[in-house]
Amino acid sequence: MENHHHHHHNHRHHHLQQQQRQMSSRFKRVCVFCGSSPGKNPSYQLAAIQLGQQLVERNIDLVYGGGSIGLMGLVSQAVFDGGRHVLGVIPKTLMPREITGETVGEVRAVSGMHQRKAEMARQADAFIALPGGYGTLEELLEVITWAQLGIHDKPVGLLNVDGYYNALLSFIDKAVDEGFIAPAARNIIVSAQTAQDLMCKLEEYEPNHSGVASKLRWEMEQQLGFTAKSDIAR
Ligand code: AMP
Repeated sequence: MENHHHHHHNHRHHHLQQQQRQMSSRFKRVCVFCGSSPGKNPSYQLAAIQLGQQLVERNIDLVYGGGSIGLMGLVSQAVFDGGRHVLGVIPKTLMPREITGETVGEVRAVSGMHQRKAEMARQADAFIALPGGYGTLEELLEVITWAQLGIHDKPVGLLNVDGYYNALLSFIDKAVDEGFIAPAARNIIVSAQTAQDLMCKLEEYEPNHSGVASKLRWEMEQQLGFTAKSDIAR
């Protein structure tokens, strides 16, 4: 009788653990950088929707640059449709509907592009870049730079849809070979071809700051002044 009871309890416990493994993520909210254009290849649009669906499946909320244009609109709509919270952080000057379209979910107005990036970074537990142009690259490289300086240790993922980012990854390898990027800092970017693979890799990611000037942390923050570590690191 007692044995049976014990077994039953274990079984239930196991079942709960399995449920948790499916439903919970180490991330509460992820920041997505992506093109304000849809891109020519429909696989970019599909990837944006699939990434949104991955976030929904893992009960993760979204923070992004706001608006409904391009891949930004597709990923935010997918997360919103799946019932997760969507936060769009948008500079007041970009708010008119003819510039960025309408933002689903919550809109937070900020005073400029720098404030937007700081706010998106503060709100997120991880960053993901989908294909995009200058804006996407700038946002991606900034959070990589911040990780390199030890300002945050949130994972940074690159969704390399159909090899879109192969040339960037090769360039980064060259920068490592040529001695401009520390080999340890090469591992800041986690890349994968599909949203599902990328999410799995990001869940497993362990920050590795060896070789990075962590003792400069405090000084850098003071000097750069743009964001206190306590603001974007969590
Ligand atoms: P891009 O990759 O050049 O299309 O820029 C996309 C990224 O830059 C997004 O993640 C946005 O945060 C920002 N961005 C660029 N253009 C716009 C726009 N018209 N409206 C809102 N955000 C934009």
